[in-house]
Amino acid sequence: MDHARTRLDLDPRDEDWARNGIFALFGLDSYPDGPGHGPGQGAGRSGMTGDPAGQGDEDGPGQGAHIETLLAGFCDLAVQAGLLDAGRRGECEDAVMGLLTLRPSAIQDRFAQIEKERGGMAAMDWFYGYCVDDTYIKKAALDRNPRFTSHGLVITINMAKPEFKDMTRAAAGNRTAGGYPKCTICHENEGFAGRDKRTLRTIPVDLGGRRWFWQFSPYGYFNQHGICVNREHTPMHVDRSTFSNLLDFVDRFPGYFLGCNAALPRIGGSVLAHDHYQGGGEILPMHRAGVWQTMRAEGHPEARVEILDWPGTAVRVVSHSRREIVDLSERIRQGWATFDDPDQGIICRGEDGQQSALSPTVIASERGYEMSLIFRNNGVSPDYPDGIFHIHPEYYPIKQEPIGLIEAQGLFILPARLVGQLADIRQALIQGDPLPQKESDFTLEWGDLTARLAGGREPALVEEAIRDELGGICERMLENTAVFKRKESTRSFLEALGFKPTD
Ligand SMILES: [Zn+2]
Repeated sequence: MDHARTRLDLDPRDEDWARNGIFALFGLDSYPDGPGHGPGQGAGRSGMTGDPAGQGDEDGPGQGAHIETLLAGFCDLAVQAGLLDAGRRGECEDAVMGLLTLRPSAIQDRFAQIEKERGGMAAMDWFYGYCVDDTYIKKAALDRNPRFTSHGLVITINMAKPEFKDMTRAAAGNRTAGGYPKCTICHENEGFAGRDKRTLRTIPVDLGGRRWFWQFSPYGYFNQHGICVNREHTPMHVDRSTFSNLLDFVDRFPGYFLGCNAALPRIGGSVLAHDHYQGGGEILPMHRAGVWQTMRAEGHPEARVEILDWPGTAVRVVSHSRREIVDLSERIRQGWATFDDPDQGIICRGEDGQQSALSPTVIASERGYEMSLIFRNNGVSPDYPDGIFHIHPEYYPIKQEPIGLIEAQGLFILPARLVGQLADIRQALIQGDPLPQKESDFTLEWGDLTARLAGGREPALVEEAIRDELGGICERMLENTAVFKRKESTRSFLEALGFKPTD
């Protein structure tokens, strides 16, 4: 109750009512009243102050750890008291926190109030903190994920996310059993006990005059990672309206990037049945990538198109003018969707339909809008049955899942199993042993590592070599996804669309 008062804005008038809701969860019809028990023994009502953010100075790396510990202790006691089956702890935590979390309408009113007073980003900061405190975002678990930088890429290992190798799952659109809600990201999941979503809260967003909503990701890959979802359960698509929708979003939340996967199966989009975008409060490596060549288009005086110095194939349309951004992005999208070059393995339409599509992602900067367009193609060949521009099989021991929007921008999310596998390899290198039999899938990496270390066995050197090896492989995975292996080919493609090099 103290946590709910100070961190979840529980109104003092609702305290007894909320406490009784928790008693009812456990079928309690009486409760021992005495020192340390019952109403009025808490730490005061300091949270109901004039600070609308309400998060004070407790933000930081430890955010979320306190409530995680508190909830674990609470469930321990409930199990000891015979009130809770140990196998249902997760459900219990979700139910308790769901009772203490404000209703969606109250959350949205508070968000609107902060946005009016201090702007969209301040409101998002408050909402993010709230979702950590109501435990929808598993912040303490996120902070435990390994994360480092190598080869200009950010490499993370996500301990909480299951590894999916079955690519048909995305095409099925994450349908839910039973048909309600229709899929895992439909708005009807807000507060839904059937999927332990009692603490999920969403914020309405208007994009292009249509109703969308924003929610944070419970196991986000980076700072303030969330999704922006169409209120209607309607299929993913990328067209002219997508570009202006993305601009609408960063106009309101200029500290975030927002983008989406190309609407193709087998290239990382996980919920193709429901139109949605992904974004958040971190500038990803591709947004900072250097420029290999700048180009311009006649009739668009301010805009420039930059071919990125980046392992994947990507260009960046930069302008302060929304019209220029949308017009030029759409010109490139249409050009790419109909581009064929069998010599480079590029077939825009195959037996299963469209194979080429763009993945757009935008930030707002002092240069205006920066709309990056990542070129994707999901064609297959006898040599590459999983995809010509998919990760090549020699790298599957590191990662087999398709490269989606976030990884295409240079933030890699590697599977949890690697923690144990890399520990085996690290130990063998430090002890001067051969590659352990059970890690025999890693002969390629082992060859690179032993060549680089040349007999060196100091733990710090070994660790540095492993990180460098992972970064190097992730860079090569991005090169696998590049549809144009040479930047000159990207330039020729743009020249055919009427863009001219500036030098
Ligand atoms: Zn849906």
